Amino acid sequence: MNTPEASFLTWQQQFRTNKDCLQYLKEMKWPNGFMCPQCGHDNGIDLHCRELTECSHCHKQTSVMSGTLFHGSHLPLLKWFWALYFIGSDKGSISALRLSKLIEVNWKTARLMLTKVRAAMGHRDSLYRLSGTIELDDAFVGGKHKGKRGRGAEGKTPIIIACENKHKKAEPCPI
Ligand SMILES: [Zn+2]
Repeated sequence: MNTPEASFLTWQQQFRTNKDCLQYLKEMKWPNGFMCPQCGHDNGIDLHCRELTECSHCHKQTSVMSGTLFHGSHLPLLKWFWALYFIGSDKGSISALRLSKLIEVNWKTARLMLTKVRAAMGHRDSLYRLSGTIELDDAFVGGKHKGKRGRGAEGKTPIIIACENKHKKAEPCPI
């Protein structure tokens, strides 16, 4: 059995707001704190509801969402996170109609989200090549790794968020 380790309730408690999701994404992107992709400076200032971080040295603005599935999406992160939960819980087999009802988006949007997430699930290697990745799989849904990881590292179908991390190329960062 590969049921997600996180219950609906746990997930709900962890991701209540967009801010929670952003914060989570930030911790994944910069586990050791902000680092400017341009100059390597480690002091960043949050802008625009914390989606953008500006380097206090060279003033380059970096979006925490760049290089992720969510990049360029106008949907609230919260909806994306919940979509990941439902898709992950269902091993990708959820219908667009059901997803659209669960996260309150229209069918077309739900279909697009499903397509994106499924593509990410299916193109694990190409995403790894982008620049290093964060792996969202059962373990992500579960929050913590417990015992054996998924169905064996090779066989599972993770949902992946590509994450710009130039110092850890091709090395997945399991959550
Ligand atoms: Zn900088």
